[in-house]
Amino acid sequence: KLSERLTAVASFVESGAVLADIGSDHAYLPCYLIRTGIISKAIAGEVVKGPFESAKKNVKKEGLENNIIVRLGNGLQAVEENDGVDTITIAGMGGPLIASILQEGNAKLGKVKRIITQPNIHSSSIREWAVQNGWTIIEEEILKEDGKIYEIIVLERGKAEYDELEMKFGPYLLEDKSPIFVEKWERELAEWKRILDSLEKAGDTDEIQRRKEQLRKKIELAGRV
Ligand code: SAM
Repeated sequence: KLSERLTAVASFVESGAVLADIGSDHAYLPCYLIRTGIISKAIAGEVVKGPFESAKKNVKKEGLENNIIVRLGNGLQAVEENDGVDTITIAGMGGPLIASILQEGNAKLGKVKRIITQPNIHSSSIREWAVQNGWTIIEEEILKEDGKIYEIIVLERGKAEYDELEMKFGPYLLEDKSPIFVEKWERELAEWKRILDSLEKAGDTDEIQRRKEQLRKKIELAGRV
């Protein structure tokens, strides 16, 4: 059974999409989307040999070799021009890594209409990449599974402007302020305050000053939510 997290990611893939799932690991997400008939063609990209082999094994086990091409490659290098990919999923990595994969693969995004990301941390990197590269956020989701909180950000082409709070917390998530959203940021806020507290006792180098300033800024931002 697919995790709640990946099921939520899958829910943003449109019927009939040609998908590239980057960092696919076991290829659970493309296998699920094909099994359920939502799509019929996908690329599963992996940069590490071990997960690449598990993806291949799993696709074979499910008898989906005609539907899913598993490729070893760094980021969007796994995508080829005539694959006809129009949708990309990148899940289960940090926001900065996801943003760098999109940045390095920018030239491969020509025919892509939708990018679905699920950053584990620092989701603001993805919002920043989007704004700078002509993408807009069409939907966001936040969910909790096994005590961990996950965000999903869905992008399509368009121009958007977000203020500081929206960039940090997510324009839609901020508007909803769901209980899980509140829990996430209360946790983070407590952590920032804890670190700031220990830095207050840690002497006064320029580096510590700089870290404290950053934390105060984040705490102030969270206070405005
Ligand atoms: N996407 C799956 C999920 O959400 O459950 C797997 C997440 S797993 C934590 C991250 C995977 O991304 C790993 O298998 C890793 O090898 C792969 N990965 C990391 N950087 C990558 C890159 N630049 N290109 C392709 N795959 C990458």
